[in-house]
Amino acid sequence: MPNHSIAIDGPAGAGKSTVAKRLAAKQGLIYVDTGAMYRTMGLYFLNAGIDIHDEDAVSAHVNEPVIRPVCSDGEQKIFLGEEDVTQTIRQNEIGDAASLISTYGAVRARLVDLQQEIAHTNDVVMDGRDIGTVVIPDAFLKIYLTADVRVRAERRVGELAEKGIVRSIEEIEKEIRERDERDMNREISPLKQAEDAVLVDTTGMGIEEVVGFLSAVYEGRLGTAQGEEG
Ligand code: C5P
Repeated sequence: MPNHSIAIDGPAGAGKSTVAKRLAAKQGLIYVDTGAMYRTMGLYFLNAGIDIHDEDAVSAHVNEPVIRPVCSDGEQKIFLGEEDVTQTIRQNEIGDAASLISTYGAVRARLVDLQQEIAHTNDVVMDGRDIGTVVIPDAFLKIYLTADVRVRAERRVGELAEKGIVRSIEEIEKEIRERDERDMNREISPLKQAEDAVLVDTTGMGIEEVVGFLSAVYEGRLGTAQGEEG
């Protein structure tokens, strides 16, 4: 069983996916975006006309969607059945649906199973909210990535602007606060820093700096582990 996986958790907009992707490419690991799985599940229920506020209805249909994350060229694509929904799920509305249904036990159980199946057969960099605490509690390296909420909002506004979508920082900051509030205070697997996670506040850091720092930590641990074995 592979045992050099990296778990990255943290609030919305902290830079998890960018950092995870680059770290995976640099260290030859497989990148797995678990938020995309919750988003794809949310998309399925919206498309199927199932009321996402009705936990019983959602739970009754939780095994229906065929969700397939596919890693190619260091990027993760995600399929719902035969359809590539990688771009579709980035919409705000789908993120909100994901955040809501991710509070349901049946949804989490199904997706955690799928994530653990992947982590059992590959060395991965997996990012999400409960990776170090629930999905891979014995991860080789756990990271908790965060940043000031204003900075996270500014980054998100910049990303959206690149796609031609104009939103105000105030509006996005409000959405991020609401998302954080829900993710941190839900009953099942709330977002929290694992006790043994390395805390990185990226507020004043550029992406390259964060990736460089985390690569050094990972390589340092690999060196120590090899030293102990040999
Ligand atoms: O990371 P991303 O914004 O794509 O995730 C969308 C939503 O999915 C999050 O707001 C969170 O509620 C949920 N999620 C989760 N557990 C994970 C990953 C995402 O609950 N491991």
